[in-house]
Amino acid sequence: MSSLHHRHLAVSPDWLALYYRHPLEITHGEGRYVWDADGNRYLDFFGGILTTMTAHALPEVTKAVSEQAGRIIHSSTLYLNRTMIELAERIASLSGIPDARVFFTTSGTEANDTALLLATTYRRSNQILAMRNSYHGRSFSAVSITGNNAWSPTSLSPLQTLYVHGGVRTRGPYAHLSDAEFTAACVADLEDLLGHTRTPAALIAEPIQGVGGFTSPPDGLYGAFREVLDRHGILWISDEVQTGWGRSGEHFWGWQAHAQNGPPDILTFAKGIGNGMSIGGVVARAEVMNCLDANSISTFGGSPVTMAAGLANLSYLLEHDLQGNARRVGGLLIERLRAVGAGSERVREVRGRGLMIGVELVKPGTDEADPEAAAAVLEAAREGGLLIGKGGGHNTSVLRIAPPLSLAIPEAEEGAEILADALRAAG
Ligand code: PMP
Repeated sequence: MSSLHHRHLAVSPDWLALYYRHPLEITHGEGRYVWDADGNRYLDFFGGILTTMTAHALPEVTKAVSEQAGRIIHSSTLYLNRTMIELAERIASLSGIPDARVFFTTSGTEANDTALLLATTYRRSNQILAMRNSYHGRSFSAVSITGNNAWSPTSLSPLQTLYVHGGVRTRGPYAHLSDAEFTAACVADLEDLLGHTRTPAALIAEPIQGVGGFTSPPDGLYGAFREVLDRHGILWISDEVQTGWGRSGEHFWGWQAHAQNGPPDILTFAKGIGNGMSIGGVVARAEVMNCLDANSISTFGGSPVTMAAGLANLSYLLEHDLQGNARRVGGLLIERLRAVGAGSERVREVRGRGLMIGVELVKPGTDEADPEAAAAVLEAAREGGLLIGKGGGHNTSVLRIAPPLSLAIPEAEEGAEILADALRAAG
């Protein structure tokens, strides 16, 4: 067992989540694998909560980081910085948002905070529409728009938040409806809600809910919402912290599955772009981005070493068509896991897109969430040499699979086999 386990108390308040009965100390990684302090090797199907976008220890990223670190490391927000400008230009042109501007932060939380700052200022309203079962980060404002109670420790919100139906397709009062009926019911619910409120500043939504258990609505739901929002001048913020960079295989951004009425007004990103280095950010059209009437700065946002990592990582992703790889290998992995699930009374549903796959567990023969089983499968998978995540609004009973996007077919097969064994071992 890692000797760091006891010393971890120094950094861990009681509410800081840690996986495994004997927490894992990861020492290094390569490709899709990581190693622990005891020398055990694991196939990594969670990539540090989706931060490892391309691969562990990708030589292109390592080289870019060390070369930049040898030149200069400081924060140069007050000065011109070529790496920041180049990455901003590339993200702006990939974003699909017209006249897009980019502001770099150091996390997804800070990106969403900034998006809320922009939207509430632009619209002069502190009301926010958010989705049930959502997760948007850990700051005071981000927890107050987080619909997943397990991750929202305070009710003292600086914002007035109204929660909307629709982020979860397979549970809740509309679950029995067809996709078209589900969408119509959620739109009617939103219209009804807007009839009872002042005008909110924005709707914020994850196209596929991450922490909430990789759940998503039917394609087009947020586009249908957009039509209603437009009538009221309400902005649409797409939280792409987990869904960005082609992870869903079919789309580069999650919002593109909901694009019938145009792109969102604001998009937030983080996690994978730095391949583990801390990059977050906001993209918005210039009019929205420039609505703040004050100086602002992010001391570390856009610093050259993280930007160099982002540029090298993004180039690798695009040059090697890792979005296409996520579609192909993810499709195969979902198929394999569905076959595994069909043989287990514990598996309620295998869902997902590309390399963002959720396996929802229940007590055998019921529809009841089974967090103990999820914890047991996580332990058994680790024993078998596979790291996965868990989440879900239903007492964290959803296994979450989100490997680096360069996952190879034999690795997908290896992971599916270990998971099948882990499900059997967990009983
Ligand atoms: N938004 C979403 C959708 C997320 O999944 C997360 C992190 N799990 C965040 C925001 C917050 O990002 P960070 O942890 O980088 O602050």
